[in-house]
Amino acid sequence: MASSLPPRSSYLKKENAGTARREMGLKVAPRRNVLSAINNGEANGGAPSAPADGGGAEAAPVVEFGGREDVERLLAEKMKGKSKNDFKGRNEQMSDYIKKLRACIRWYMELEDGYLAEQEKLRSTLDAENSRHTELEAQLSNAIEELKAANLDLTRRCESLEETLNREKSEKLIAVESYEKEKQERESAERSRDVLTVELERATHDAKRFSEQLKMVQDTNKRLQEYNTSLQQYNSNLQADASKSGETISKLQKEKSAMMETMAALRECHNSMSSQLESSRASQQEAIRVKEELRKEVECRRAESKQVRDDRDHAVAQLNSLNIELATCKEQFGRASKECECMSTKVSALEETCNTQQEQIQTLQKQLAVATDKLKLADVTAIEAMTGYEEQKEKIKYLEDRLAHAESQIVEGDELRKKLHNTILELKGNIRVFCRVRPLLRFDGDSNGPEGASISFPTSVESAGRAIDLMNQGQKLSFSYDKVFDHNASQEDVFVEISQLVQSALDGYKVCIFAYGQTGSGKTYTMMGKSGIDQKGIIPRSLEQIFKTSQSLESQGWKYSMQASMLEIYNESIRDLLAPGRPNSFDMTTSKQYTIKHDSHGNTTVSDLTIIDVFSIADVTNLLEKASHSRSVGKTQMNEQSSRSHFVFTLKISGSNENTGQHVQGVLNLIDLAGSERLAKSGSTGDRLKETQVSVCFL
Ligand code: ADP
Ligand code: MG
Repeated sequence: MASSLPPRSSYLKKENAGTARREMGLKVAPRRNVLSAINNGEANGGAPSAPADGGGAEAAPVVEFGGREDVERLLAEKMKGKSKNDFKGRNEQMSDYIKKLRACIRWYMELEDGYLAEQEKLRSTLDAENSRHTELEAQLSNAIEELKAANLDLTRRCESLEETLNREKSEKLIAVESYEKEKQERESAERSRDVLTVELERATHDAKRFSEQLKMVQDTNKRLQEYNTSLQQYNSNLQADASKSGETISKLQKEKSAMMETMAALRECHNSMSSQLESSRASQQEAIRVKEELRKEVECRRAESKQVRDDRDHAVAQLNSLNIELATCKEQFGRASKECECMSTKVSALEETCNTQQEQIQTLQKQLAVATDKLKLADVTAIEAMTGYEEQKEKIKYLEDRLAHAESQIVEGDELRKKLHNTILELKGNIRVFCRVRPLLRFDGDSNGPEGASISFPTSVESAGRAIDLMNQGQKLSFSYDKVFDHNASQEDVFVEISQLVQSALDGYKVCIFAYGQTGSGKTYTMMGKSGIDQKGIIPRSLEQIFKTSQSLESQGWKYSMQASMLEIYNESIRDLLAPGRPNSFDMTTSKQYTIKHDSHGNTTVSDLTIIDVFSIADVTNLLEKASHSRSVGKTQMNEQSSRSHFVFTLKISGSNENTGQHVQGVLNLIDLAGSERLAKSGSTGDRLKETQVSVCFL
């Protein structure tokens, strides 16, 4: 079994191993049974047990086989009879044997069945394994593909990494090279640094030396700078600074002289050095001359050559020492000349500085002188200005006092004027009646004839301008008034008489002017007038005067506020002419709300009446226009409602003076009454006709 199945994989090998173990089990365990069965058969003497399946009628021996060996042993079994004729025994033996064979065959069959089942199982296992194998193969192939891809990717990455590595290596090499170069440079830099350090030390040493010298110069410079800055201070400090700078200059000059002395000493030193040099040169020349003489002596006295040589050596040594001395002298001279040059440059620089400083000082001194002059001049001017200012102050004070005095006088005068004005008006009469005769108009007709025919004005001294004569049915009727205006009197003439009353209203009195007369007699013309410069009536002229006078009184501290109201009275009912959304005709239901009230101070007010603050003549003109819209009168429409109604214009004037603490409250009532013929309705027709014919209005 194990060898028949080809080893396809390790899994199968394991299974085969298991199978092999099972086969071993079949072989080992039942062997004893078979043997025992055979032995039993033998021991029983051919009385085998009945078969297990009970297939035969005879009892079959229980035989079990463990393997081929048992079968072969069974096949090798030989019939043993007691004798050749013992057929019965043989027969029994044969039947046992047959039974055994049958059992063997059954065993084989069972074994075969088991094998077949095993085969089936193995086949299914094999199929499962095959499918698993194919799956695994597919997985493997996938894995291989993935691995291949991964491998490819890794190869690419590896290549890129190798490239990077190469690049890094090259960069590293470059870096190493640059590092080497830098190292070399650093070394060279260090070397140069060392050199520079040495130079620096030397330079520091030099610098120290120079800085000491510089310090001296800087000190001087500092002093000079301080001096410079102090010089720039104004006026008083300038003098002190100038003296300080003078001191500094003297110091500098001292320094300069010291330097000059040093220079002179150096020059002397230089001169002495040069004289020494000269002397040494002379001595050198002397030595040369001596040498020459000695040479001559050598020539002459060869015998004394040794002595002469010694002398000569001595002279040479002297010469050398002198040469050395000369060199040192030369060196000293060079150094001294350098120092001298340096000092001279310093001196020249200092001289330059000194010169510039001196120039600066001179200019500053000039500036100072100019400034001092200016200051003196300014002082003089200031003193003059102060005296002028004081004078002006005194003058202003005097004028202020005078002004206050004048103002008080004005106030007093104003008071007096008011009193006098009132007294005059009282003397004239608190109630005055003026009569105005209007000229004949076209619609008056010819029946009236010329005005002179029925009306005449007496010209006697006592009654001139104050009386009027009327001719009625041949009878002369004389009337006298406070003032009579004839038909030639202009609006201006009428207002001149009225203006004094207007002034009283501003002074805080209650003034009332009303026009009385028949319809068409000229009441409205007198009160309101017509458009045109000279045609303006009493109302606009009064208002103009009030606003003009109130403005002129502002300078005296008076402040006025005005409130205007206009109403119309018809049949005992009041209509507010300035009410917003006012109805065009009298409405009895709404007119009830207006009631006339009199308080204890003698003030008369109408409740719910529209009162409007007015600040200019233009405001009042607008209001008058508004009111006239509702009260326009046709020339010939005598029965018109408005001609039979009274028009009342009221201006309340409140004035206060902050300077004097005075308060005044005046009222100006200007009234255009209804036609007087309405009142005369009960009179005779003839009288009435006459009344209507006489065109006179009373104020
Ligand atoms: P009343 O108001 O009394 O009814 P009006 O003032 O309406 O009368 O005058 C009637 C007409 O007479 C108006 O046309 C007016 O211009 C004119 N009139 C009245 N008085 C004069 C006058 N003094 N000079 C010129 N025209 C006058
Ligand atoms: Mg009128």
